[in-house]
Amino acid sequence: MSEKILVVEDEPALQETIAYNLKKQGYEVEIVGDGHAALEAARKLTPDLLLLDIMLPGLDGFEITRILRRGMNIPIIMLTARDDEIDRVVGLEMGADDYLTKPFSMRELMARVKAQLRRSRLHKEELQEHIKEASPQEALIFNNLIINTTRHEVTLNKEVLILKPKEYELLLFFAEHRGQMLSRELILERVWGWDYVGDSRTVDVHIRWLRKKIEADPSKPERLITVRGGGYRFEG
Ligand code: CA
Repeated sequence: MSEKILVVEDEPALQETIAYNLKKQGYEVEIVGDGHAALEAARKLTPDLLLLDIMLPGLDGFEITRILRRGMNIPIIMLTARDDEIDRVVGLEMGADDYLTKPFSMRELMARVKAQLRRSRLHKEELQEHIKEASPQEALIFNNLIINTTRHEVTLNKEVLILKPKEYELLLFFAEHRGQMLSRELILERVWGWDYVGDSRTVDVHIRWLRKKIEADPSKPERLITVRGGGYRFEG
């Protein structure tokens, strides 16, 4: 299967040139021209690589990187136009894996793309090894989110999340009941216990905290879903 590359660039001529050259190398290419479409496409297509222009309509490349980095591990090559943009890419550790300054040659771009994809393949293989090492009883695996029940440790994209004890228990309770609607009352009873003096808002607050840690975009949760009038459902 050929690797999928999402190109986020608002300049039609450059879009075309980049797409043409990538396709010629055998990559599958998707192009979007603004920031919001970029986020949507990145989530929907789960591409193998993102080529990301910085100055874009909607959200800029920095904002997109910041949001995507919370939940996705996709390699990002930024396309910068100005020196001060490079400073930000390099200096602020925005989470981009590489950058190219416009104007760049297609040959250079192809080399960088190839290098990033190679790196990312190695990383995925390592991740597979990591998953294999944890036996099924020890780990609950939800794509890039792994709950190690022996070590009471949760990792997202291989990075350990700092969870409060109740956040961990809550997440584990959800993980063990994936796909089921769980009411606030049930959650309160099972995670906090019968004798807990408090109300169901405690659950909402903890859900909010948990979403900040495990969701790519906490304002549009895809893992911990609110069920209207009911409670919450964990999608995995
Ligand atoms: Ca632009």
